[in-house]
Amino acid sequence: MSERIEVLRRLQSIDTKLKRLEGDKLYRGYDIQKKQHQIQLKKTELSKISEEIKTFQRNTNSKELDLKSIETEIGKLRQQMNLVKTNKEYSALKTEIGGKEADKSVLEDEILRMMTTYEEMQQRYKSFEKAIAQEESQLKEVQKQVETDIQAMESEIAELKGKRSNYASGVDHDALQHYNRLVSHKDAVAIVSVINQVCQGCFMSVTAQTLNQLMSGKDLTFCHSCGRILYLGDGSEDSNED
Ligand SMILES: [Zn+2]
Repeated sequence: MSERIEVLRRLQSIDTKLKRLEGDKLYRGYDIQKKQHQIQLKKTELSKISEEIKTFQRNTNSKELDLKSIETEIGKLRQQMNLVKTNKEYSALKTEIGGKEADKSVLEDEILRMMTTYEEMQQRYKSFEKAIAQEESQLKEVQKQVETDIQAMESEIAELKGKRSNYASGVDHDALQHYNRLVSHKDAVAIVSVINQVCQGCFMSVTAQTLNQLMSGKDLTFCHSCGRILYLGDGSEDSNED
C-alpha cells in the first residue's frame, strides 16, 4: 500500500473518531436539556396548583363570610323573638330561624369538606415542590458529570486534531483536498477498501479499469459509483491505528 494511502487511512481513522466524539459531546448536552425541560414542566404544574389553591381559598373565604352573615341574621331574628307580641309572629319567626339554621348547617358541612380538600391540595403542592427540589439536585449532579465528560472529550478532540494536522502535513496538497472534500460530504467516510472487486463504501462492483489503476498504485483512484477514494484491501486491515 502506498504511503499516501496509508496516511489518508490514518486521517480517516482520526476523522471517524472526531465525528463520534463531537456527536457524543452534543448528546451529553441533550441529557441536561432533557432534565431541564422535565423540571420546567413540573414547575409549570406547580404554579398551576398554586393558582388552584388561591382560587379555592377565595371560595372558602366567601363561604365563611356567608356563614357569618347567616349567623348574624339568626342572631337578629332571635332578638326579634323576644319582642314579638303574638303567637303568629312568634311561630313565623321560629320557622324563619329554622330555615336559616338549616342553611347554616349545609354551609358548615360544605366548609368542612372544603377544608379537607384544601389540606389535600396543600399536601399535593408540598410533595410536588419536594419532587422538584430532588430533580434540581439530580440536575446538578448530571451537570457536574457532563462537564467532566465534556472536558475529557474536548482534550481527546484536541489531541486528535494535533495528530490530524501532523498527518495532513505529510500528504500532498491535491490528495488532501480530495480527501477533505469527500470527508465533509460522504458521511465522513472518504477512503474505503475494495474487497473482492466491491467498493466497501457503496458496495458496488468496481470496473476492471479501476482495478488496474488500483494495482498500479500510482494515482489516487476513485469509485465510479460513490466517488470515494479507493485502496485494495483483503479485509484484514482495520484502520484503527492513528
Ligand atoms: Zn463506492
